Amino acid sequence: MAAFESLSNRLQNVFSKLRGKGKVTEDDLNEAMREVRLALLEADVNFKVVKDFIAKVKEKALGLDVSKSFTPGMVVIDIVNKELTELMGGTQSKLAKANKPPTVIMMAGLQGAGKTTTSGKLAKLLQKGNHKPLLVACDIYRPAAIKQLQVLGEQINAPVFALGDQTSPVEIARQSLQFAKDNNNDYVIIDTAGRLHIDEALMEELKNIHQIVKPDEVLLVVDAMTGQDAVNVAQSFHEQLELTGVVLTKLDGDTRGGAALSVKAVTGCPIKFAAMGEKIDSLEPFHPERMASRILG
Ligand code: GDP
Repeated sequence: MAAFESLSNRLQNVFSKLRGKGKVTEDDLNEAMREVRLALLEADVNFKVVKDFIAKVKEKALGLDVSKSFTPGMVVIDIVNKELTELMGGTQSKLAKANKPPTVIMMAGLQGAGKTTTSGKLAKLLQKGNHKPLLVACDIYRPAAIKQLQVLGEQINAPVFALGDQTSPVEIARQSLQFAKDNNNDYVIIDTAGRLHIDEALMEELKNIHQIVKPDEVLLVVDAMTGQDAVNVAQSFHEQLELTGVVLTKLDGDTRGGAALSVKAVTGCPIKFAAMGEKIDSLEPFHPERMASRILG
């Protein structure tokens, strides 16, 4: 799999030099950290995030006095592993659940990020947990978005609430909640409109939907392949909409990993899911510790 390939290779090179060492001097550590820093920057990780990360690892390594350990290289690798995990949120951040069903999940994101596809994937994931999700077609502007959601719904046998493209998204969202209650749908996934860029009209509409449905989750779908742009998009959305989580898509094509490693640290918003392919079952809950281990190989 392509995810993090180049970063992973770079880090493995750095650590293979450290691993066998019976003694790690401060110079060795500095050299290794210099290379880790370069690898992270090359992976398109946010500059400040890299700086803080390196400082933390160094502080811990020096604090533990790794030079006295029998396997100092392994100790350093372990510290990096833990810090990478922390960087991506520490522990898995689970989907919220409403006290009284339905749990309402609002999906947001720029056009092409994978919002509609991810809505279908999330519904499928919920079905696997014996839930009855309802998909709601509020993207009335992109030609064929409604149809796309309906096709996805048919594929997984999940109901899709749509009122065409002449009713306002706010009204569609409002009516969908009643539909969910009447039909015992315990999760409502609202696919909202995306635009090519963040603009006022888009944010205004999202805020209006937010106000009406009072979502338990506001998930921002971002394309991991766009690196720091994805992080900037997340930052802008978060300032206006109070996101509860991020979904990273296209990790299968992301050889660098900059978005995955920066988005939590920059926005404070946890990554809740990762999508790694076009298939309907390619969405997974995001596990920071597993991702860190994968990066370190
Ligand atoms: P939207 O405009 O945000 O609703 O985007 P779509 O859901 O229509 O997705 C845009 C394109 O990205 C489609 O061709 C999807 O198949 C593709 N896509 C979505 N998620 C992934 C993913 O995780 N991996 C890959 N390779 N493609 C994806």
